[in-house]
Amino acid sequence: MTSKQTPVDCFSSSPLGLYVHVPFCATTCDFCAFVQSKPNRKQINRYLSALKSEARHCKTLTKKTVHTVFWGGGTPSILLPDDLRTLGGIVHEYWDLGDCQEWTVEVAPASVTPSKLKGLKSLGVTRISMGVQSFDPATLEEMGRLHSVNQIHRAYDWIQSEGFEQVNLDLIIAFPGQNEDHLLKDLEHALALKPDHLSTYCLTFEEDTQLYAKLQKGEYKIDPEKEADLYTSVWNYLEKQGYSQYEVSNFAKPGCQSIHNLNTWKMHEWIGLGPSASSQFGGKRWTQNPDFEKWEQGIAKAQPTCIDESTLTIEDLANDILIFGLRTIEGVSLKDLGQRTGMDLGAYLPVLNQLVEEELADWHGDTIRLNLNGRLKADAIGVEILSVEA
Ligand code: SF4
Repeated sequence: MTSKQTPVDCFSSSPLGLYVHVPFCATTCDFCAFVQSKPNRKQINRYLSALKSEARHCKTLTKKTVHTVFWGGGTPSILLPDDLRTLGGIVHEYWDLGDCQEWTVEVAPASVTPSKLKGLKSLGVTRISMGVQSFDPATLEEMGRLHSVNQIHRAYDWIQSEGFEQVNLDLIIAFPGQNEDHLLKDLEHALALKPDHLSTYCLTFEEDTQLYAKLQKGEYKIDPEKEADLYTSVWNYLEKQGYSQYEVSNFAKPGCQSIHNLNTWKMHEWIGLGPSASSQFGGKRWTQNPDFEKWEQGIAKAQPTCIDESTLTIEDLANDILIFGLRTIEGVSLKDLGQRTGMDLGAYLPVLNQLVEEELADWHGDTIRLNLNGRLKADAIGVEILSVEA
């Protein structure tokens, strides 16, 4: 597979996303492996100051306008209203948001307040994503989450009153002990709130989490067959309720898909600010240092201490467009992929045709799409695609 094009050529008309990582949480959930810690006033001030310098530096990378903004974490809503205003001021100061189509902020039910939401709305935030995880009190406690079901309802009412364009709820499925009845009850509860979008993440046991320690001690067991059954129940149920699956873990009412996430899965460009934030820009990929002190010191010296810095090859890009594209319901048009990368894609055909033979995918003209069975094996299919010799 050879191409005269470079990844930089492929990105020339790509929309740009801006991700801001807020590395603070009130406490650590048992399943969490994200970079976060409990903050104090001094640390929040240091974060905002370093983030401003980082934004100033990153702005020099491009004249592109920002199409989507996403504040994730951590828990952005743990910041006080004044801090949120400062963070929003940094985004507005250094980036042109004239073409911005979507601005998402992740919030937690226990830390969001009406005044924080009002402030976010006035900054131009369009989409709130709330980490509910479950409506079952026992499951919430088991996960080490700090909020109650009442707090979820209270927060949701506040979000609705503020009139954001879209609201997403995050749910976790296949938590140890969860059966189909529990899960469907959780979904019913979520849908009663009428969110525009639902993200349903299968629990993963990441190293260095409480949950992983329990797995190691034999307190939990992984049961892939049960997980597949639960996935299928969720997908069937949500589809019947008018939420279309547009990616393995994501469902939306018509017109409510997350533009930021779609642009990421399509392998467009994004710049990430804050400790541990990743970027894909100008034919390169890098991740900011996840260690707060090292991240801050690097920014202060105008020499960011990035990890995993790499120059993208056209083959890397094609692999990832296929891997992430196959996780979407739209699938991947080989014609479009060939045009975007300038590559002869023949080397992928044996793997893709094998997926069709194994009844995991179907061809629709030049587009390949995973079917239900294929989506259940999307992770393993990604690994197979990575093994294709470039
Ligand atoms: S709120 Fe989110 S980021 Fe914070 S500890 Fe829990 S799962 Fe991790």
